Amino acid sequence: MYLKRTLNDELITFKGLRFPYKKNSKSSLRYRVTVGIGGNIGDVKRRFEHLFFDIKKQSRVELIKTSLILKNPPFGYKNQDDFFNSIMILKTSMTPKVFLNYLLRLEKKFGRKRSFANAPRTLDLDIIFFDNRVIATEKLTIPHPSWQLRESVVIPLSEIQS
Ligand code: AMP
Repeated sequence: MYLKRTLNDELITFKGLRFPYKKNSKSSLRYRVTVGIGGNIGDVKRRFEHLFFDIKKQSRVELIKTSLILKNPPFGYKNQDDFFNSIMILKTSMTPKVFLNYLLRLEKKFGRKRSFANAPRTLDLDIIFFDNRVIATEKLTIPHPSWQLRESVVIPLSEIQS
């Protein structure tokens, strides 16, 4: 069950039991990571719930917080369904490279197929911040490029920080 709120013609927020969520006890893991999650194929909110429990089972990752879910129009390739997006704050002992591979494995597990840029997707996982690191390699750009320009990141992120 989600509480639905219409922000304007294009944006709708959903609040449920696990989005937003806040863990009470402290974490001992080393790095704090902000992960953007999104998708626009099938029942995305339900997939987010499964992802929530999958991450909770992982010993090298601790789920600290999640934001509300935002439904918003696609950018880039426009001829596709609206996206659902949320933010997760995690703690992990993995390095950025190992953590990226973990996210790529999760995307695969949740049915992600790669076709073209900005194509429809079951689950997209992006590292927005990794502690306060700045990384610019072929495989990894952190902070995630142009995160400030995306409603899909900025709106859930502002809610999670309030
Ligand atoms: P995408 O199609 O957006 O899912 O692109 C995934 C690819 O983007 C990954 O295989 C990474 O190598 C690369 N990438 C670069 N920076 C990041 C980041 N901050 N978070 C996730 N993937 C990234």
